Amino acid sequence: MLKVGVIGTGMIGQDHIRRMTTVLAGVRVTAVSDVDTAVAASVGARTGARVHSLGVDLINDPEVDAVVVCSWGPTHEQYVLAAIDAGKPVFCEKPLATTQEACLRIIDAEVVVGRRLVQVGYMRRYDGEYRALKAALGRGVIGSPLMMHCTHRNASVPAFYEKEMAITDTAVHEIDMVRWLFDDEVAAVRVLVPRRSRNGGELQDPLMLLLEMSSGVLVDVEISVNIRYGYDIRGEVVGENGTAALGNASPVTVRHAGTDSRPVPADWRERFLRAYDVEFQEWIDSLSAGGQPVGPSAWDGYAAAVVSDAGVAALRTGDRVPVVLADRPKLYAAEVAA
Ligand code: NAP
Repeated sequence: MLKVGVIGTGMIGQDHIRRMTTVLAGVRVTAVSDVDTAVAASVGARTGARVHSLGVDLINDPEVDAVVVCSWGPTHEQYVLAAIDAGKPVFCEKPLATTQEACLRIIDAEVVVGRRLVQVGYMRRYDGEYRALKAALGRGVIGSPLMMHCTHRNASVPAFYEKEMAITDTAVHEIDMVRWLFDDEVAAVRVLVPRRSRNGGELQDPLMLLLEMSSGVLVDVEISVNIRYGYDIRGEVVGENGTAALGNASPVTVRHAGTDSRPVPADWRERFLRAYDVEFQEWIDSLSAGGQPVGPSAWDGYAAAVVSDAGVAALRTGDRVPVVLADRPKLYAAEVAA
């Protein structure tokens, strides 16, 4: 039974605690911590987990085998470094850290330990449709992939959402996904700015992100975050001999009164509910009997940060911005080939 401590009991922290306490096997949430001590106390009372006022005390709790970090992004680095220092596996919600330099500090610390301890919460890799898409590419029936069209649509976003977040918070999931799907790094980024939707007020919405993979595959990502009708994630790979596309997450089609309709998920929680379950179960299973995490690594967290920074620069300047990665340490050699 893996004993897990969760730092950050906000929205996603509570959701991961729910899945670890009521859905998944082989895990127990033994400790929680949050700067909002009242929220942490109420989660602790509900689940029977111990409550620590400091994240670092949770990390050093002998009743904690592995740490889950779900606090606000700028706090991630300190908790991930403290977990590495304590020799404990740490699952960190995205982003791994809020700057490239901080991601590199985490990589350096893990390389010194000499084994993987860090996994980053990029859950699309665990979604059944994306996995089927990757398997279809692997079978080779559509030939070499040439292009991919992606769509990332949200019904709405909160008032604090700023235009850079379309890259750093929204499209960052596509950035990680294409690196994994094509086993390749992103080489350069451009952002095109179309006519603005009135639904977003002053926000520049939508945006079009163009990712050039090292192999030459070109990926376009439509990011529309105020489209009202629902949360709509699409992806279609164009190969030499055919195409492969994500299915449709809707379980049912209704034909009625001259229409043929399918429900659209309301938000990412609904669309990726099962992916989060699979992500955590595989993480738990990988750690049982002292194993290492095999999901998105600190290197993946770093690469996503570099591409996302290039995307922000491309948005600000209108230029094509090359992606320059540091040398990849051997610890991450088996991953995404450059
Ligand atoms: P949230 O509801 O604001 O939760 C963040 C929690 O962390 C809050 O309770 C916050 O407390 C707490 N916190 C802040 N500083 C802390 C510290 N120093 N130590 C411990 N706790 C601290 O945010 P959220 O939506 O759950 O997001 C949390 C993280 O998950 C973010 O990094 C986000 O990007 C990521 N996320 C990932 C996905 C995904 O699809 N993989 C989806 C959603 C969120 P206060 O409210 O008092 O500041």
